[in-house]
Order: sequence, then C-alpha cells, then structure tokens
Amino acid sequence: MKKIALFLFVLLALVSCQKQPKQSGCVVQVALGHWVPTHYTAEQIIGRIDTVNQIMPVEKVIIGWTLDVDKKIYRQVGEYLHSKGIRMLLWLPLFAETEQVFDNSPAVDLWGRTPANYDSAASNAFRFNCPSDPKNIANLLDIYDRVFSDCGFDGVFLDRVRTQSFVCGVSGVLGCGCPLCVERFAAEGVDIQKVKSEFESQGDAFFSVSAYNPADGFVFENPLAAAFFKAKSHIVSSSVAAICDSLRSRNLEVGLDLYAPFMAPFVGQDYSILTAHADFIKPMLYRKTFAPAGMGYEYELLRKSLPGATGYPALEMDVDFLNSQLDAMARYDCGKYPGIELNYDKELVPTSPEYVAESLKAVKDHGFEGIVLSWNILEVPLSHLEALRSSPNQ
Ligand SMILES: [Zn+2]
Repeated sequence: MKKIALFLFVLLALVSCQKQPKQSGCVVQVALGHWVPTHYTAEQIIGRIDTVNQIMPVEKVIIGWTLDVDKKIYRQVGEYLHSKGIRMLLWLPLFAETEQVFDNSPAVDLWGRTPANYDSAASNAFRFNCPSDPKNIANLLDIYDRVFSDCGFDGVFLDRVRTQSFVCGVSGVLGCGCPLCVERFAAEGVDIQKVKSEFESQGDAFFSVSAYNPADGFVFENPLAAAFFKAKSHIVSSSVAAICDSLRSRNLEVGLDLYAPFMAPFVGQDYSILTAHADFIKPMLYRKTFAPAGMGYEYELLRKSLPGATGYPALEMDVDFLNSQLDAMARYDCGKYPGIELNYDKELVPTSPEYVAESLKAVKDHGFEGIVLSWNILEVPLSHLEALRSSPNQ
C-alpha cells in the first residue's frame, strides 16, 4: 500500500514538473495621452476592458501617462481591475518624451548635435535624452515616487528604452556622443574619435553587413562598427537595467517595450541584459505599422538612410518573418509577451481582422506567457477584437 502511495506521489510530482502548455495571458495597453489630462473617462476605459475580458481573459493593463491631477482616473480604473484580479501597470517613457516634465539633458550624435525629432504618432515632437546622465535616471524615479506611487499600480511598463532609430537618418543611431557616454564607450574599449573618423572616411559602407540570420541578427563587416553597436547596447541597456532594479526594489513588476530582435542593436537594446532585469518584455512585432517601431517601416528607413551600405536583404513582412522574430526571442529567460498592433488607420496602420487572427496564432504557437494587444485598446475596431475569438488555438 505504501509503495503504491509512493508510486502515485512520484507520478504526480513528475506530471506536475512537466512543462505544461502555458495559459496565454492577455495584456492590453490604454493610451491616455502624453502628460496632458486625458479626454477618456474611467467608465469608458472600464467598459472597453470588460469587452476584451469577455473575449480573452485580461491579465494586465498598461495605462498612462496622463498627469491626471487628482489621480482619480488611475485609482478608479485600478479599483475595478483589482476586483477582477487584473494587474495595473503604469506606462512611462524613459529616454524620450520627458522634456515637458523634467529638466533633462538631451542625447547628441557623435558630433555633439541633437538629432532632429520625428514621431507621427506623438501629438508633438519630442527629443531623446542621454542614457547615461544620472540626472535623467533620477528624474524618472522621482516622478514615479512623487506622482504615481499612491495610485494603486502593481508595476511600471517602460517605453522609449532606447536611442533614436533611423527615423531621422544615421545621426540618431550614432549616439549618444556626449562626454559622459564617450567615457562609457571608452570603458567598453571603443574610442569614439576612431568611430567618427572611420564613419567619415567610409560613409555608408561603415554599416555594411556580411550576413543576416534571424537568430543572431546582422553581422557587421567592419569590426569597429560591430564593437560600437555592442558597446552602445551595453551602455543603454545597463542604464535601463539599473532603473528596472530600482523599480523592482519598490516591489513593482517591470515590463519593457522593445524593438524587434533584428533592429534592437541599432537602438541600444541588448536582450540578454534587459531580460535579466525585467519581469517581462514586449517586443513590438508590428508588421502593418508604417510609423516608428513598425518592423518593415524601420527597416526600410535603414535601407534608405544607407544607400551605400551592402548586405541588407529585402525582408518581406509576412508571417514567416513574424515567426523568425518570435523564434529569436524564445531563448531569453523572462516573461515574453510579444506586442501585436490592433489599432487601425487606413494609411498608418492598415490592419485587418485576418491580420490579427494570423498574428495571434503565430504568437500562441510559440507558447510564451502571453500577448500584448497594442497600442491603444480604446481605439481598436470591434471587428479586430472579435478576431481574437476566431483564433484556432483559442
Ligand atoms: Zn550621453
């Protein structure tokens, strides 16, 4: 009898240790506007989350970053979410879009110039800030502590954890070149004077690559270019890691908004460092977004900015490409919630219910912790939400 009980116990333990197919968690983003008071009401937000929750159980809500003076909207939504067992995370920008509320030092390119700014999705132009200046980092923690810490948040979702991409040409990518960052590059073994003169003599060819494979990304031909982007990723990502640690020491869950793995090195995102310090990552795997962070959009900007660089293949933004990026993020050990865009705009985001269903299936097939429905659930067409229902794996 004892033997049978022991056998059953061992069998049970073995079964429970086996990797169970994970329950797909659904995370939604609620964009309330950037620092300004929002025009949405708590009832509208709650009503929409309720609609989604009936189609696909919602696990977390990322909401921000309006400066609602009496904090009522966050508290009211938070109370509702907590009554449903849903976590609420504050959406905060880190290295850009903070100059309205802080005295920050800007990021500069290798020649000390502030790169031009552009974001079609933002209500006004914003600039990127230096990833090394301790003041910039302290400011972000300070605004959380001063303004948001008593609103009922379970965590923080950090946006803009990067430098500028190719939206304004190569200048935004070749940074930050301020004295603080130049020192950090030197500590990583990269002499910025040499990088500058190499780029000035080689031009676009400085960026030429000898290979691309989805698992390891682009392989630079010029060893100095390879060293520069490796060091840049270390510098930017170590700063992000320090902020993650500070927030987590406040007992907050931390999520990160990331570029897709193939573009991440250009904006300073080292997945190995970042995933070791965050609770979860959300790579923006947008195939139909013709604005910053859209995968095809960003890649075409790279190719247009560097007509003289060789080795960059044409990349079709089909479901195979989506799968290649999902495969590339699979090796990292933290919560993985790929972001799929559900917003719709005829020109900027021509998504469809079929696109939503196809992308959702690809994400589910990878068995990660969940998915982020991006980037503003309040503006998603109902037809796109219905498409979440029709996924074959539901
Ligand atoms: Zn700097």
